[in-house]
Amino acid sequence: MAHSTASRFTILAGMAMMAATISSVAQSPGPGISHELAINRAARVSDLHYALDLAVKPHADTMPGMETIRFTLTASGLATDLPLDYRDGTLTTATLNGQTLPTTLTDGHLLLPAKFLHAGENKFEATFASRIATAGAAITRYEDKDDGSEYIYSLFVPMDASMAFPCFDQPDLKARFTLSVNTPSGWNVIANTAFDLFTSMGTVQQTHFPETQPISTYLFAFAAGPWVSVNPTPGKPNVYVRKSQVKRAEPEVPQLQDITARGMAWLADYFQQPFPFPKYDIVLIPGFPFGGMEHAGETFLREDVVLFRTAPTAADRFGRNITTLHELTHQWFGDLVTMRWFDDLWLKEGFAQYMAYRCLDSLQPADGAWKHFYEDIKPQAYGIDETQGTTPIFQNIPNLKDAKSAYGAIVYQKTPAVLKQLNYFLGEDHFRDGLRIYLKEHAYANAQWSDLIAAFEKTGSKNVQAWAKAWILQRGMPEVNVEWGCSDGKIANMKLTQHDVLPDGYVWPMSNEIVMGISPDTIRVNWSTAEYEVKEAIGKPCPYIVFTNNDDYGYGRFLLDPQSADRTASSLNPMRDNLSATDMMVMSHPLLRSMLWGALWDNVHVANSSPRSYADLALRELTFEHDETLFRVIAGHTITALHSYITGPSRTPLVAQLERIATERMQQQGAAPGMRINNFRALTGIAETPAGRDTLKQLLSGSLKVPGVELRQLDRWNLIGRLISLNDPDAAQIFAAEQQRDKSGDGQKYAWSVQAGVPTAEAKEKYFAQYLLPPTDPTAKPEDWITQSLRPFNSWNQSAFTEPYLRRALDQLPEIKRDRKIFFLGAWLGAFIGGQQSPAALTAVRDWLAQPNIDPDLRLKVLESADELERTVRIRQRFPD
Ligand SMILES: [Zn+2]
Repeated sequence: MAHSTASRFTILAGMAMMAATISSVAQSPGPGISHELAINRAARVSDLHYALDLAVKPHADTMPGMETIRFTLTASGLATDLPLDYRDGTLTTATLNGQTLPTTLTDGHLLLPAKFLHAGENKFEATFASRIATAGAAITRYEDKDDGSEYIYSLFVPMDASMAFPCFDQPDLKARFTLSVNTPSGWNVIANTAFDLFTSMGTVQQTHFPETQPISTYLFAFAAGPWVSVNPTPGKPNVYVRKSQVKRAEPEVPQLQDITARGMAWLADYFQQPFPFPKYDIVLIPGFPFGGMEHAGETFLREDVVLFRTAPTAADRFGRNITTLHELTHQWFGDLVTMRWFDDLWLKEGFAQYMAYRCLDSLQPADGAWKHFYEDIKPQAYGIDETQGTTPIFQNIPNLKDAKSAYGAIVYQKTPAVLKQLNYFLGEDHFRDGLRIYLKEHAYANAQWSDLIAAFEKTGSKNVQAWAKAWILQRGMPEVNVEWGCSDGKIANMKLTQHDVLPDGYVWPMSNEIVMGISPDTIRVNWSTAEYEVKEAIGKPCPYIVFTNNDDYGYGRFLLDPQSADRTASSLNPMRDNLSATDMMVMSHPLLRSMLWGALWDNVHVANSSPRSYADLALRELTFEHDETLFRVIAGHTITALHSYITGPSRTPLVAQLERIATERMQQQGAAPGMRINNFRALTGIAETPAGRDTLKQLLSGSLKVPGVELRQLDRWNLIGRLISLNDPDAAQIFAAEQQRDKSGDGQKYAWSVQAGVPTAEAKEKYFAQYLLPPTDPTAKPEDWITQSLRPFNSWNQSAFTEPYLRRALDQLPEIKRDRKIFFLGAWLGAFIGGQQSPAALTAVRDWLAQPNIDPDLRLKVLESADELERTVRIRQRFPD
């Protein structure tokens, strides 16, 4: 069914108006926080203040607390009870305006009785005890196995503040928070503001934090434990690290502080808004379930994002800078101006991601930010958007308990890609000025997408509504094809066509740039029809190749015409003698070159050309390829082809050839260290033959070295994991030796994870039983351990062992959705479906999908992950060797 999307924006605007007229809400609002409840409360409640007094004791599984909430209520808000949110903990006492309330919670709410509410100021007071756990709680405890220390941190997004204390847990009831935390002496507490009072009482201390600016509940946070501030420097953010990791952090933290300080200045200038909060700290959290979280004035980053577990390449450092700038951008886009509801989650995430690349492109132009963007961001977006499981960027979220499912590649990868298109469509000045207006008009408050459109319109931009309806409200993406012909050495005709890769039949307005290989000439085209005659091209010199998405402004699958595809394949080699003019042109444009390689892979991906021909070309070129990140992309595609698509007798010689290339280039003295590391990683990924496995063993024993590169613990565990998954006869002995050698906390995690790759039925059953334990079970493994083990469990060569678990893994999805953190479900599906290649596995997935009454949201997630399996089956059938 084609759905009507034309009036979504007016519906949104209508909701806000509706809020003023709603005077009643059901007595029990039901589980979670419904949009209806949020609209009702936002219309009634204002001027909100929380004062929290919390106590964290060593190894305790609860956090006792006292709280005072002050808020103003409209006169019309007195008509019905007012639900306050609290779940998972125990409410001990509660009073409203001095009247004692029963402490019974219904569906995670305490109803503040209408009869005790006042028009104007109200005061609610409570005492409570909330849960602290190593997983599955809003307050997480991390036990450092390296030194026995304990660390506590909060993570509330999207609606888990109400697991920690009673509150109105919705983003548009911003509040000022005051916080006191009692902890053991010697701990540091980091919160949204800098502490102003510190009282020591023997073995206990109290840290007090002054009132915040108005912030949403999901942006309120604290971390407590023996954190150490590494390299404290005036004018730069404090970076806190657990004390056992200080040595590892010391060489890395100055770079992190530097990029943050420069990014802060750049963003303040671009947005024409100073940094919006009184201070900015970064806390490196071990085992954090996201890359980072942008709490107001204090970002939490996953420790591994900063303290590399493997020998890092320049691309790894680039990725770290992007994550750092992403969270920093959120201080404006997300924290200063916050979405009214989580259906606009994409807005803050898209801008954080897009602005991170813009900022880094400006600060460090030599890093090639937009090439990284094309190589890292775009494939993830297209990988979802071409599947039946995709959704529009704008997703309705009727209840915050379902908001987790909105997180994924559409929000994090498609949105920034579409914003790049918007910037090109609007032009630099309009785009920037629109953002400035938006941030200024809604500072310390909330806004929605229609407000941003209105801001762009104020700059004089036209057609933003039509653009937004197509790109934000339609799911999917176009495939763009080009036909062209020449006569007398000049272009006689050129036509672009777009068609929806899904059967929805959508058409998109597009601005893109056509490059014609023989001359550096480019043509900008703006079109919004299924077909477009490129009249501007007629009469130009006949080109050698044509590519329709130069500089990557467009969003979609831009395929090469057959002639350009053939010519591209012979024009990609930088080391060839007798470079033609086209070769020279392509060579001097690293982004274009990467995009042409991408277009060749797209042809394999859509089963237009054989994976074997791609692998042949790649293996020829990888010997010479000098571009580090492009090498990584091509090697990655080749490994996919060799593990998933190519099955015939030609496979093993190709594997051996890639092993040889990687082994040789990994040792090239003259090459950049990143290139040697990329080859080391390619070898770890592909090694399979006895010779390849011997090389891995030599690397582990130290008899072979990667010159100038010191392997780190995770590099070593990856090598061992590879040997285990290949059932190498020496694997068990090597594993045991490494376990003796690396007894660190992370070493224990990696050891456990790689053993999920033991190719026996018993090992699989043992691990799967672990996966099924609820996160609250005391014998359950931490969630990051499980995540780490999912890929080894589902090694590409072990589908005979893992296929029986596919259906069981799918049947587990409702529990996973309910109990696990936001990104776990995607990792689970990606691993279990990604480990399969057979028609039988595809049938198992389809059988699961055919069941009645499947959660529609889970159905989409499975369709997303099943797409690659369908392609694999199709490619294998079409190209049996
Ligand atoms: Zn973000």
